[in-house]
Amino acid sequence: MKLWKKLSMLAVLAILAATGIFGGTVLYQTANYNISQTISNYQGQVTSTAYVLEQEIRNNAPQGFGDETNKSFLQYTLRKHGGTDYMLFRNGKLAGNLTNYDVAGQGTMPEWTMKQAKYVIQRTDGHHILIMGKQFASSGEGIYDLVLVRDISQIYDDIQDQVWMLLLVYAGVTALAINMIFWVTKRLLRPLNELQWTATLISEGDFRRRVQVRTNDEVGKVAEVFNQMADRVERQVEELEEVSERRKQLLGSLTHELKTPMTSIIGYSDTLLHVKISKEQQKRALEYINAECKRLERLSGKMMSLVGMYDNEMIHFEEYPVQELLNRVEALERYHVAEHKMQLVMTCAVGTVPMDVDLMESLLVNLIDNAIKASGEGDTIDVLAVNNRITVRDWGKGIPPEEIPKITEAFYMVDKSRSRKVGGIGLGLALCKKIAELHYGHLEIESRLDAGTSISMVFDRMKNMDGSQEEMG
Ligand code: ADP
Repeated sequence: MKLWKKLSMLAVLAILAATGIFGGTVLYQTANYNISQTISNYQGQVTSTAYVLEQEIRNNAPQGFGDETNKSFLQYTLRKHGGTDYMLFRNGKLAGNLTNYDVAGQGTMPEWTMKQAKYVIQRTDGHHILIMGKQFASSGEGIYDLVLVRDISQIYDDIQDQVWMLLLVYAGVTALAINMIFWVTKRLLRPLNELQWTATLISEGDFRRRVQVRTNDEVGKVAEVFNQMADRVERQVEELEEVSERRKQLLGSLTHELKTPMTSIIGYSDTLLHVKISKEQQKRALEYINAECKRLERLSGKMMSLVGMYDNEMIHFEEYPVQELLNRVEALERYHVAEHKMQLVMTCAVGTVPMDVDLMESLLVNLIDNAIKASGEGDTIDVLAVNNRITVRDWGKGIPPEEIPKITEAFYMVDKSRSRKVGGIGLGLALCKKIAELHYGHLEIESRLDAGTSISMVFDRMKNMDGSQEEMG
């Protein structure tokens, strides 16, 4: 059963129970009050009539006459002071009956007493008959029972009318309550249906779907949180799709990059095996094979670093002085730079930074190697650590502006044949970009053709790297 139906039924049941108990109790109390009021009125009436009769009999009863005379007197007195609702008994025998009721047909009567008037209500032929009696004595003449017999069916009929009226109102209220509660509950829970519908669509892949938050109640809050969750899911799905797409591209590029050296190696080794060539040619073929194998080795090394960096547990952060880092990099690059007759100028104006030293070293070595490849003999390469960045700057050939956004993609080389000649494989900047991201930073590339390039590693979470600034997460 749907939630709105369950809630509505519960509310209707609660209202019915409450109104039923309330109405029933009020009706019961009213009926009891009416009956007891009527009885109390009649008790007053019977008591005063008994008193008047007692006085009349005591003062005016004929003395020394026969039974018939006495009976006539009593009947006369009863008619005069009582009326048509009364019977009078003298010493247990009927002395007068002005009612339409037969005493014998009234069943057993209670024992009347001199004290308060007693009563009994009998049901005969659908009528409620009140029989009320009281005893009185009159100057040794015997004991008298004054009995009132009265049809009080009207009171019961009124009560029955009230019961019907209550049931009618009850039915009306019930019908109205059911309609109103069903309508209100359905309306209140409508956002939940929308939520369910949206959740179904999202689970089927429509990640852009959102619920319209209209209310400020609990349901509205759930809808709001649901939308936040959907935002997050959408973002994560997009990220996953992006990663998967990048992996696909990486794999495609890798296959392509592997194919070129493999083809050369197979070609040269086939020539060595099957073609008669001079010693000089054999040597050159072996040199080609050797160079291509070295290229493959470099390729696999860089690929392993790049893949390894997706495993964040391998990264080890420590507070490390940037000056120390630059010293290590200079020691590594000293001979390489000298080999190309260039100068490496290191300037450091910052303190310590939380970093993975090996990865930062690898980043700077890659940037300096690229700068060396782009520069000419006698050029200078600057490495400058200032504020929240470390910059590698050269005055070499520069990068065409339209190529700048692409050079951090894996296997991208501006001039493939030239890059290959100088040992490039197009993975260096992809590695640098990943290292920068792992340090909560990014790469900033500025370049002008034939004027030079400067590539900076920017630590986004720090303002200055003087050791006293904001910490990196
Ligand atoms: P590679 O292994 O080819 O150096 P990278 O990813 O390091 O691969 O660089 C990609 C391309 O970006 C290079 O082929 C080169 O054309 C260009 N590049 C990188 N750094 C510089 C630089 N300092 N000056 C000029 N071009 C550069």
